[in-house]
Amino acid sequence: MRSPEKIYRSALDVKGWNARMPSVSSVRPGRCCGCGAASRPAGGNLVVHGDGTRERQLRGPETAAGPAVLTTVLARRYECQSCGACMLVVPREVLPRRLYTACAIALALALWALFGGTEAAVRARVSPLTVVGAAAWCRWVTLRRWAADAAKRRLFAMSRRSPTEFTLRQHAERTAAGLAGLAPSGLDLDAAAFVGGGLHRPP
Ligand SMILES: [Zn+2]
Repeated sequence: MRSPEKIYRSALDVKGWNARMPSVSSVRPGRCCGCGAASRPAGGNLVVHGDGTRERQLRGPETAAGPAVLTTVLARRYECQSCGACMLVVPREVLPRRLYTACAIALALALWALFGGTEAAVRARVSPLTVVGAAAWCRWVTLRRWAADAAKRRLFAMSRRSPTEFTLRQHAERTAAGLAGLAPSGLDLDAAAFVGGGLHRPP
């Protein structure tokens, strides 16, 4: 069985990536994630080959104040000729196993925990999916899952460990405040959280 692809976050953001897709060689991982072989050994054959692109869905607003949209980005895929491991290189806002961008998730946590927004209001700002009927007024399970994952440091490596007695909203508050702290000063808090979400180190 082939192992799952390892995700590498590029320094480029989605906007820059889409405006000018990086070349195969410019974002090639330096080493194979599986066997650790150098991708381009000096004097030897190329080990980690480019293997085309893969479309990734992206959900969430493109700026803190913008409308939530559903877009796609073409990730670059690589394959190790030595061990068969696969690597996917993505813009920096893309998180492994998440459809929403890191910026969108950070904004959602901030709106909910720092601004006291209702789950329905947060969903309206961050989710491009139209929700009708009773579900729109209830809990947004995805938001609560993000808060829980942030508490376990599965989303953002910089999240400090929170006390176990914290509520989900308190976990979200700590994470959002930490992410906002990564952004350049002078931004409004929601914009700072959004920008900080794209700047965090991966877990
Ligand atoms: Zn390998």
